[in-house]
Amino acid sequence: MRSNRRIEIFSQRILAKERAVTAAMLEAFRNNRRGKAKEFFELVCEYNEFSELCRQWHQNLSAESNCIQLSLDVWFLQDLIKHLTPHADEEVVYITGHSVGNLRIPYRICEVELKEQSVVYARCTARSCSDALIEINEKGCCLQLVAHSHPGMGKDTTTPSGIDLNYLDKIQKNDSQAVGVIVSRDGFVRFFTSCVEFEVSIKGAEAEYVGDNVFKILLS
Ligand SMILES: [Zn+2]
Repeated sequence: MRSNRRIEIFSQRILAKERAVTAAMLEAFRNNRRGKAKEFFELVCEYNEFSELCRQWHQNLSAESNCIQLSLDVWFLQDLIKHLTPHADEEVVYITGHSVGNLRIPYRICEVELKEQSVVYARCTARSCSDALIEINEKGCCLQLVAHSHPGMGKDTTTPSGIDLNYLDKIQKNDSQAVGVIVSRDGFVRFFTSCVEFEVSIKGAEAEYVGDNVFKILLS
């Protein structure tokens, strides 16, 4: 069965369940069982949110949508932060992974060689960037993320600089759908873009969304 059809059936099943729970909730209200009614209400909210999410994914994964859906797990991000912060200087990596339609599941870190590196600046050699891109293409994948670290602590330290924005703008206008990522040493991860539309979701209880496409990742 095609996945679109399966999502539709699943979505309809959730809606049917939602209606049944709503009826049970009203019944509980009528019988003054407030505790039970509250439980039902919370369940309806959960179903409702999930149903919305399914509908949104269904819409965004369809060919008409240009919105890139990034799906990552918290374990990968914990590894990425560790990888990008071995010392005080900035580090840069390319990241690739699975792609299905507009869905991107980044999982592989590709090294690029740096020609200049300091606490606030890192630039890769043109040769190593093209080598990494060739290898990614030869494996049938595409560049999904360009990630680097920033010094300092807190959400604001992950704000992209003018150089970061210009660089991403250049590669996105050159037909890449790669999204930018900046990490801090204390576990903040920001996703940013120039002209490519994207949405990001992180799986795992150790990730907390703090707004503006920034997540706080619990580090061990
Ligand atoms: Zn930067």
